[in-house]
Amino acid sequence: MKTIIEKLTYDEQKNRAIIQTAARLIQEGSLVAFPTETVYGLGADALNPQASRKIYEAKGRPSDNPLIVHISNMEDLEKIVLHIPPKAKKMAEQFWPGPLTMIFEKSQAVPMETTGGLQTVAVRMPDHPVALLLIQAAGGYIAAPSANTSGRPSPTLAEHVAEDLDGRIPMILDGGPVGIGLESTIVDFSEDTPMVLRPGYITPSMIEEVIGTVEMDPALLQAPLAWQGEHAGSGSASMQSGKEDGKGILGRKESQNLEQGGLRPKAPGMKYRHYAPKAELILVDGSQEKVQEKINFLAKEGIAAGKRIGIIGTDETKDLYKSGIVKSIGTRVKEDTIAQHLYGILREFDQLEVDRIYSESFSSPGLGQAVMNRMLKAAGHHVIEV
Ligand code: AMP
Ligand code: MG
Repeated sequence: MKTIIEKLTYDEQKNRAIIQTAARLIQEGSLVAFPTETVYGLGADALNPQASRKIYEAKGRPSDNPLIVHISNMEDLEKIVLHIPPKAKKMAEQFWPGPLTMIFEKSQAVPMETTGGLQTVAVRMPDHPVALLLIQAAGGYIAAPSANTSGRPSPTLAEHVAEDLDGRIPMILDGGPVGIGLESTIVDFSEDTPMVLRPGYITPSMIEEVIGTVEMDPALLQAPLAWQGEHAGSGSASMQSGKEDGKGILGRKESQNLEQGGLRPKAPGMKYRHYAPKAELILVDGSQEKVQEKINFLAKEGIAAGKRIGIIGTDETKDLYKSGIVKSIGTRVKEDTIAQHLYGILREFDQLEVDRIYSESFSSPGLGQAVMNRMLKAAGHHVIEV
């Protein structure tokens, strides 16, 4: 299959024609990748079971990992859910269009192929003009996971989509770099108390300002997330078990125990190793000075052993690393920049064919929580505490 990449420009009329063509493909049951404000999505008609199935095929996605249905206006929500809890309505008023996905009980209209066999459906209204026009033109309901091969870092540029899916889908809409760079926050409204299933740009404290108490999926809380900082005291308390051997709350041993203990994340997708570069990624956590010292030591050691080493630092620290291929992920002063560049930097290191990447960690109470959640997964929870 030949993949057509259509660049969207400032020519509104031309854009509309391109979006019409893309919408027709979706109505015919084909796949189109398109930009949203979070990451690029791989879209199909959410109400067509065969079309949904094609998404799993193209991505190599496990069939139990449900898709998010994207809508372009509030009225369209009613057809696909059984009822809208008042708190969810408030959330929609506050955060839609935006990087928030909400889980509802699904109606008959939504096929099981789209929900991975669940009786609930995840819904989001993206904040991107191309996405909104496309959804509307295609009939109102586009199922769209991130447009990457399953397990690879999510795409934040059309080029990333092409890297993974060229030849496997008919069309990619190129809207340039995305704004946020991390997947949406997922909140489950299908049970009595709303529950965060995946951290994202919209933080628990932003949610609590609108609807009061929100729970965290216990699998997230037990997992090595700095999340806990916001809810259970200080960030460092959440890392209380950072032990010398790197097998504390952040380490591999405990994450294995978690699985054995049966604490399954409620968002099926959260249980997979995800967002991962080809190289081994290792996070180094601790005070700034010690982290630099450790990374410099490990990089030197790796290079001496004949390995290609990549280092993820920040604008503030990049000049302090003495060997290896050093890249800045952004500035700690503006966390948004770190989120924006995370997936792109992992892909860049893949292209440079490094064997191992050492990265600073980012466990601040704001957006850093979502960043850290993705980084820990990308690293398979391999963290060295210093
Ligand atoms: P992606 O679109 O690739 O960012 O992945 C969608 C995420 O939403 C995955 O982690 C899914 O497990 C999660 N998700 C989608 N639908 C549901 C649902 N009905 N219940 C729980 N999680 C869901
Ligand atoms: Mg994804």
